[in-house]
Amino acid sequence: MKKKTVRDADVAGKRVLLRVDLNVPFLPNTSTIADETRIHAVLPTIRYLKKQKASLIICSHLGRPNGKVVKDMRLAPVAYRLGALVGEPIVHVRECIGPVVQQAARELEPGQMLLLENLRFYPEEEKNDLEFAKALASLADIYVNDAFGASHRAHASINAITRYLPAYAGLQMEKELKMLGTALENPARPLGAIMGGAKISDKIAVLRNLIKRVDRLFIGGGMAATFFKAQGLQVGASLVEEESIGVAQDILKKAQGNGVKLLLPTDVVVGDTFAANTPHQVVDVARIPSRATILDIGPKTVDYFADGMRQCRTLVWNGPMGVFEWDAFAQGTRAIAETMADMNNAITVVGGGSTAEAVEELGLTNAMNHVSMGGGASLEFLEGRDLPGISTLPDKED
Ligand code: ADP
Ligand code: MG
Repeated sequence: MKKKTVRDADVAGKRVLLRVDLNVPFLPNTSTIADETRIHAVLPTIRYLKKQKASLIICSHLGRPNGKVVKDMRLAPVAYRLGALVGEPIVHVRECIGPVVQQAARELEPGQMLLLENLRFYPEEEKNDLEFAKALASLADIYVNDAFGASHRAHASINAITRYLPAYAGLQMEKELKMLGTALENPARPLGAIMGGAKISDKIAVLRNLIKRVDRLFIGGGMAATFFKAQGLQVGASLVEEESIGVAQDILKKAQGNGVKLLLPTDVVVGDTFAANTPHQVVDVARIPSRATILDIGPKTVDYFADGMRQCRTLVWNGPMGVFEWDAFAQGTRAIAETMADMNNAITVVGGGSTAEAVEELGLTNAMNHVSMGGGASLEFLEGRDLPGISTLPDKED
């Protein structure tokens, strides 16, 4: 179901409480922002609302201050950068509610911006507290959620707030829902899902949801070892989650039952130990040495996966194929990213924090149709769950 967006709202001359995700990383021990992606992501909605002559009361969390004021987690450096990128100064207050904030909000002219302090300085935020939500709501006429990456949290500025103000999705949120939602609900077929990452236990719910929807499932990363074990192969010293072997068996069975083609690696890169500079070799999956650890998919698998991927019209990818943080074991992940980036006749969608990071490091973010900004939120979405910040946004009426 499509959600009402800012474009459906009459915002001219109104005060808009805009919840965004400005949870940016900083260079260690500085107030220098290390990665501005999240700031850039909120610019389209801000520019749209300004152009429509709304006054903007922008709010976000930053880090995990656990309900207390933490000096290093103030939003001032973010306010400064955001103002510079919009090309206008932004008023920044050091609180989220109360008389000072009330007055600052009242004094905003159409098109002006105010940034509130880190929402998580208030313990009420993470408790989804109604009074806190009401106090935030009293600052504005309309609420816009453009914080997909925080929408898996039932927090006051995400969930409870929608009780008190008419709510709309922002433009980044709209894109997330459209791209992830279409991939799950109404994809161009064949639909392929590529799954990897460290642990199968993190991904069980995603696997269980996707196996009902996809035409092809490609499995790499650390979780492949559990599937090998489920098939009776030896995996040496690779991490296998014994309690998940049954899950892997179940997924293999469901794939067969649902007519899903499930592709597992045919060769892997193994190391003598789990270390960046460990001696390593490519081996067939039937010949994994007894003390070796799987650290990446092998070159035959890269070709096998790439061939299968090229026959898909939609591809969803979550989870690196190997320990991509270590150069020697980054090739599988790089090959999958490059194959996706080259597929002009398919819709390519990337979810998950580490996977998005890998794609960004390879400079391929813009070559994908969509790289989700929401790490944990994108995973919960792929699990098919209702997210507390999304189910509360009203549907479009058409
Ligand atoms: P995402 O955040 O995109 O959902 P995950 O957090 O599930 O992805 O997985 C990312 C991690 O998986 C990376 O840190 C990567 O090093 C690790 N990983 C990938 N393949 C392996 C492997 N074979 N053994 C151990 N760790 C792996
Ligand atoms: Mg992760």
